[in-house]
Amino acid sequence: MFVLKFGGTSVGSAKQIKAVANLINNNNRNIVVLSAMAGTTNSLVEIAGYLYKKNHDSANEAIINLEQKYYEVIDELFNSETYKEKGSELIKSHFNYIKSFTQDMFTLFEEKAILAQGELLSTALMHYYLKEQKINSVLIPALNFMRTDKDGEPDLFYIQENIKREVENFPDNKIFITQGFICRNSFGEIDNLKRGGSDYTASLVGAGIKSDEIQIWTDIDGMHNNDPRYVDNTKPLASLSFDEAAELAYFGAKILHPASIQPAKVANIPVRLKNTMQPEADGTLVSSISTGMGIKAIAAKDNITAIKIKSGRMLLAHGFMRKVFEIFETYQTSIDMITTSEVAVSVTIDDTKYLNDIVDELKKYGTVEVDSDLSIICVVGDFIAESKGYALKIFSALKDVSIRMISYGGSKHNVSLLVNTSDKKEALVSLNKNLFENV
Ligand code: ASP
Repeated sequence: MFVLKFGGTSVGSAKQIKAVANLINNNNRNIVVLSAMAGTTNSLVEIAGYLYKKNHDSANEAIINLEQKYYEVIDELFNSETYKEKGSELIKSHFNYIKSFTQDMFTLFEEKAILAQGELLSTALMHYYLKEQKINSVLIPALNFMRTDKDGEPDLFYIQENIKREVENFPDNKIFITQGFICRNSFGEIDNLKRGGSDYTASLVGAGIKSDEIQIWTDIDGMHNNDPRYVDNTKPLASLSFDEAAELAYFGAKILHPASIQPAKVANIPVRLKNTMQPEADGTLVSSISTGMGIKAIAAKDNITAIKIKSGRMLLAHGFMRKVFEIFETYQTSIDMITTSEVAVSVTIDDTKYLNDIVDELKKYGTVEVDSDLSIICVVGDFIAESKGYALKIFSALKDVSIRMISYGGSKHNVSLLVNTSDKKEALVSLNKNLFENV
């Protein structure tokens, strides 16, 4: 059994939906996880935003605009009047549901229900299209098996038991379609796995069903060795280990949701990154197999804030770090990079929601400085264990860039460097030259 996930641009138009239908109709048994059509979740977030503010006029306008786009899609997607009619009914019912919230009180509960409509629509459209083409498929609702626990984490046991049951109900079927991103929470309410969460769905489903492979189909031919938005001539990587891919996904490679590596790694299921627009390209295979020594790739993550806490009390003291970290824990803010000296500790965060509270509390323990508009550049590979020469290559590439923090040796797969975002492009280009071009 295979799990194939298609992102928003992969199902972003009638033409694309047809192309995906073609790809999933092969000789394998496939569970197909779909995102919402490109742009839909953003529009639904915008609609929810208006509804929170009780701006019903703008909400209605945005709803009608989005609904209109879907009528255009079905017109192109279906050939027969019967299916055009069915598609129309489907769209009407989902958008009437969204419109029903414009009268009532609006809370997080309603917002989650609205956000779920994108994936419910894309999967239902795919299912109808396959039916019109006389290709047999089953729609299995993610809300029947995808569930988070009381800490908001996926409930692996529940997911595994329920996805198995859903699939076993149809022993002769080859194509199963389901929604990415959406789930139920521990109260049974509609919820989601956060933005970009469809990759996570695919990985949880793949792990739950013990699939042969998890395929993530996007609009780029695999993970690249550098960020193609800033650097010319980047190359797709043929293979990566789970740990290398996790570092890259977390530190900026947009192609894969960072959380999605873990379930696949634990269940030891290979993840293949493929391009819907160029299905014949090999893409990248992420697996437990070591892909050899050396530096493989560079990625960058923006919107980083650095916090430095300087304190004489740190000198020869123990327990200081615990107090500092407890503050971040209290405000549920995760730390990306850490460096310490005997009198100061610097950390970086990317979520600044509680920054003021954190800084207030840290001031009890020392002098606090905050810097923003920073980027983490992450150099990934398998090189630290045999590290001769690699550090020199990295730092000589960055001789003209001011480096704010360095994290080396935390894992053997990653060197992280903190730079001003305004220096990011120069750093990426120059690292590319030193590490991949002049070798
Ligand atoms: N549709 C959701 C989003 O745009 C989930 C996903 O596409 O992965 O975030």
